[in-house]
Amino acid sequence: MKRLLILGATGSVGRQALDVVARAPEAFELVGLSADSGWDALLWLARQHRVKRIALADPDAAARASEAWTDGEVLSGPEGLARLVAEADADLVLNAIVGSAGLGPTIVALTEGIDVALANKESLVVGGELVTALSEATGAQLIPVDSEHSALHQLIHGEHPGTIDRLTVTASGGPFRGRTRAELEHVTIEDALKHPTWEMGGKITIDSATLMNKGLEVIEAHHLFGTPYDRLDVVVHPQSIVHALVSLCDGATLAHLGYPDMQVPIAYALHHPDRVEVPVPALDLAQVGALTFEAPDEEAFPCLRLAREAAVAGGTAPCVLNAANEVAVHAFLAGRLAFTGIAEVIETTLERVGAGRVHSFDTLFDADAHARETAADLVEVRA
Ligand code: NAD
Ligand code: MG
Repeated sequence: MKRLLILGATGSVGRQALDVVARAPEAFELVGLSADSGWDALLWLARQHRVKRIALADPDAAARASEAWTDGEVLSGPEGLARLVAEADADLVLNAIVGSAGLGPTIVALTEGIDVALANKESLVVGGELVTALSEATGAQLIPVDSEHSALHQLIHGEHPGTIDRLTVTASGGPFRGRTRAELEHVTIEDALKHPTWEMGGKITIDSATLMNKGLEVIEAHHLFGTPYDRLDVVVHPQSIVHALVSLCDGATLAHLGYPDMQVPIAYALHHPDRVEVPVPALDLAQVGALTFEAPDEEAFPCLRLAREAAVAGGTAPCVLNAANEVAVHAFLAGRLAFTGIAEVIETTLERVGAGRVHSFDTLFDADAHARETAADLVEVRA
């Protein structure tokens, strides 16, 4: 039995993970759940899954949950979240928090030597070098949950490191694939939230529409697999059937295929190294018919280029990129920034804040805060 802690339990990945767990009661013991502020939803999940310890990042929400819950313990604030991770005696932590708020809990888990099933790609975008160094130092594994990286994890397994030439992640292209930059100026929040193939939380859905999600995933792949940026490709594949490809030195390319359903990579990460049955339809390629591929349009979707530039610049640049993106996406979802303003705010924030060397996690927390302030000012000027 694995002692499992789920962070971000009320979200899209978190809830699907709870379904995976509920189907395998013999494999998991749930030792804790967390959320940001949705205390009533979290309490409901805790009761349903018989969990006795929860944490809420928002202290007011934590106070209300404590009042309402007499037969369990509620921890409060980011410190409470850190305590939940450090004290749970877990074998595995699923980090399904959205945004750079997930970095702290990743650090705590790895420091404690606990394996992390990582959905929170922002942990690696912001702190890639330090996070992977920490994982190596303590021997705690990072098992990707992101579908493309789960695919790469499965494909790379069994290949000798020197034989891998290139890695490719696929992108659906999002709801605005094929549009020009001018055509993107007046798109609405509702249009941007209509993802063609995946159903996900709001932030990652907007990241998919801007292609920033693929930029973040290139950085994520770089850190997970140690692959240089010039050997990491992105190809647009609107059907989302092929998730990733590994090209080997002998001219062979291996692909990972399946219908777009997060239950598959979530079950893989939680049960790893075992494989279990997942109730998804068997892939029927005759019914799918055609798989098509095209190059990403970085003219219309500058976020992919910005992410690659920040990745190559290194240091705090990816952290600044990520923080500015979080602020800009939040503003777009609140109706305070145009869709095309997202890339503009990120680019100007990167110019203004610049990139420095990373000495410690504190450097990253400071750069994150500085970038957020700068990006918020830029949004304000535009609103
Ligand atoms: P979501 O918005 O649906 O859920 C986010 C969860 O994080 C919620 O439980 C929320 O309460 C919690 N949270 C938010 N802010 C927090 C904070 N400041 N402190 C602590 N907890 C906080 O998001 P999601 O779509 O489930 O995505 C979660 C992560 O997984 C993201 O990093 C995303 O990029 C990644 N991911 C998601 C999918 C998907 O299908 N949804 C696929 C691949 C990767
Ligand atoms: Mg993905």
